Amino acid sequence: MTRLLPPGEVGRAAALLREGALVAFPTETVYGLGADARNPRALAAVFEAKGRPRFNPLIVHYPEAGAAFAEVAAEGRARTLAARFWPGPLTLVLPRRPGCGVDLLASAGLETLAVRVPAHPLALALLRAAGVPVAAPSANRSGAVSPTTAEHVLEGLGGRIAAVLDGGPCPVGVESTVLDLSGEEAVLLRPGGVPVEAIEAAIGPVARRAAAVEGGEGLRSPGLLASHYAPGLPVRLEAREAAPDEALLAFGPAPSGAAVTWNLSERGDLAEAASRLFAGLRWLDAEGTRRGCARIAAMPVPRTGLGLAINDRLARAAAPRPGLLHPQRRP
Ligand code: AMP
Ligand code: MG
Repeated sequence: MTRLLPPGEVGRAAALLREGALVAFPTETVYGLGADARNPRALAAVFEAKGRPRFNPLIVHYPEAGAAFAEVAAEGRARTLAARFWPGPLTLVLPRRPGCGVDLLASAGLETLAVRVPAHPLALALLRAAGVPVAAPSANRSGAVSPTTAEHVLEGLGGRIAAVLDGGPCPVGVESTVLDLSGEEAVLLRPGGVPVEAIEAAIGPVARRAAAVEGGEGLRSPGLLASHYAPGLPVRLEAREAAPDEALLAFGPAPSGAAVTWNLSERGDLAEAASRLFAGLRWLDAEGTRRGCARIAAMPVPRTGLGLAINDRLARAAAPRPGLLHPQRRP
């Protein structure tokens, strides 16, 4: 049984984490599946609960930058970005310091560790109360759409984890931007909640991995796996009209003709669209399936600001999938 904890029970959630149990909690991006990052058994349980095919590295969360930088080596660029964007939806990949207390499983054997200070007040309260670094990938089964409400978490992980701390819907709605600062050049591993343009304004040019934007073959970061965030129905991209057997994911003024429509943002606002993306994919998947739709048709979204992250998630939702990666389609 997975317990649904109201915000007032943050102390109980922290105690469960310290005991090595798995607790999902809200962040400003999506719900994370939290585990004590110093406890290898708790980390192994995260991979098992998610059904992750391999031990991919996990993002470790801290209540403030000082605690993060005690475990990883942060130079000028990292400190500039932390001062500018933390707490917030930016993850920095940095070299582990000697004596780093985070178990190596969180780094998946790499010499680097991904760290972040989230902006959600309930996440910060939980991290402070837990007093341990908390590893937290998105709280969904591997390959499925990320959860932006406690109900989404229960749909995917109910019965597999100890508790979900319910903080309502996540305000940003797409995952953090992942930036690798472990080498000479700053590399964007995953577009996300902080636009890359804002990062470049702070530290200068950032190299893009083609795969991080288009869902290609790169495997430097598991977030680069082509198929991810996948609903059960296939997804058609760049749709400018919709057929009667399609469930339409609209952006801006929507064409008529679709069986069902979810508008990301009628006024074409990218922040609103990001916050409604995963809930929309889930809703269209359920409604579209119920009405016998053949696919989800997604309208074009501009590739600037948060639009880069939205396009990245849509490209992966539409990518060819190994059968393994859509658990909601299993009989
Ligand atoms: P998720 O846990 O689903 O939010 O995804 C975490 C993302 O951070 C994935 O894209 C990981 O590949 C990436 N990541 C975490 N740690 C590292 C690391 N040490 N090096 C490269 N990428 C990382
Ligand atoms: Mg994920």
